Amino acid sequence: MYLVATPIGNLEDMTLRALRVLRECDVVAAEDTRRSGQLLRHYEIVKPLISYHRFNEARRSEEILLRLARGETVALVTDAGSPGISDPGERVVQAARAGGHRVESVPGPCALVAALSISGLSSAEFHFVGFLPHKSGARRRVLEAVRFVPGTLVLYESPHRIDRLLEELEGVYPEREVVLARELTKRFEEVVRGTAAALRSAHRERAWKGEFVVLVGADARGRRTEESAAAGVSRG
Ligand code: SAM
Repeated sequence: MYLVATPIGNLEDMTLRALRVLRECDVVAAEDTRRSGQLLRHYEIVKPLISYHRFNEARRSEEILLRLARGETVALVTDAGSPGISDPGERVVQAARAGGHRVESVPGPCALVAALSISGLSSAEFHFVGFLPHKSGARRRVLEAVRFVPGTLVLYESPHRIDRLLEELEGVYPEREVVLARELTKRFEEVVRGTAAALRSAHRERAWKGEFVVLVGADARGRRTEESAAAGVSRG
């Protein structure tokens, strides 16, 4: 079984190996068959698709295991980026490994890595928080629990909850430098930085749209954060 990374926006971000694996596999297991169907069509790849998403993971994992046992090769893709990273994949990987099947990575785009590498924040040590839970209390508890984790914090958030997340960061990390990496690899890609409060008011004004990775600078950078807070929000 291959876990194949796919573009997070820019269709050119498809590796040669990813294309070959998709061409050579027996079946593509996709989070959304319609969406992955479009990607395959773009590359003129014709392949049977089965759906594999978080609501049918258990059932589909069994089916995928049966296929692997028959000697078929399965390529797992998600809507965007690397399977298994805040996306379906983990369960079938565990099942395949437990069943003694070979699992290979076909690495490529991943919003977390793309954002961290261009953020200007320390990447020597970082903690991937991913998506926070939905409920307010639980969200705050997670943010507080990672307060003393050394290094940069990296979060995923859906576009309509960015304001809420910035408000929560303002409460828990008022001093720290926050970076929004928006629309990575797309036309309106942008990196903006400032305190959570400054970014929140900028967001109110500019109504940023699209997808975001949110990064919080390490505690040790607090002093620099105060300087950038004075300057407000900056780009780059
Ligand atoms: N598996 C994917 C990966 O490897 O990055 C992540 C999938 S997760 C369901 C989707 C989240 O990733 C979005 O809510 C956003 O936080 C982030 N994301 C995905 N594409 C992005 C992009 N082009 N720019 C900024 N953030 C992105």
